[in-house]
Amino acid sequence: MRAYIGLGANVGDAPGTLGAAVRALAALPGASLAGVSQLYVTRPVGGVDQADFHNAVVALDVPAGPDDETGALALLVALKGLERAFGRRARERWGPRELDLDLLLFGDARLSVRRPPEGVSLDPGHRDRLLVVPHPEAADRLFVLAPLADLDADLVPPGWDETVSTARDRRLAAEGAAAVRAVGRWTGAGWAPRRRL
Ligand code: ATP
Ligand code: CA
Ligand code: CA
Repeated sequence: MRAYIGLGANVGDAPGTLGAAVRALAALPGASLAGVSQLYVTRPVGGVDQADFHNAVVALDVPAGPDDETGALALLVALKGLERAFGRRARERWGPRELDLDLLLFGDARLSVRRPPEGVSLDPGHRDRLLVVPHPEAADRLFVLAPLADLDADLVPPGWDETVSTARDRRLAAEGAAAVRAVGRWTGAGWAPRRRL
């Protein structure tokens, strides 16, 4: 099953954290890395005054599980574990964070899961709307759309009426090119500075 995962950080060494997170995702049991976007510097959204973010998107092939819901929840639990391992602490929503890993897409699944199944423990307080896929904000976030378009520009995610690149261009026109700047490309081991034209 091809999953797309959005990565973001704006506390500490954000490029270093995102590089280590890509390697950690590739090392998840049964997972194989299918693609890594460019690295972007992006303006924070949500009105909280904070440092710029670094963002990227990873394509990861993961075990499908017995059904989409179970497979996607298993991946979400792994993502939450990695966030904790990288030192993420509880703070305000949309505020600064060491590492944010969002499950953007899980194949062509459309999911809205409200309760964890037996044996799946997640933070209390986040149990209503435990998992929504595709990520409901992805179509409106340039910091998701730009890196996702690097990986599959022609993809039309389930429930969308446009391709990823069309959505990116729409948001680019609204926010301006300065809102997301590509600053690095993945070498297989880390980020190399992007060559300037
Ligand atoms: P946003 O959803 O606007 O990107 P956020 O990333 O700041 O917000 P978090 O505090 O990281 O929000 O996550 C809150 C909860 O959102 C998580 O505990 C998780 O259960 C839930 N959630 C729902 N759908 C998803 C998804 N597709 N990917 C990751 N988390 C999700
Ligand atoms: Ca997020
Ligand atoms: Ca999140």
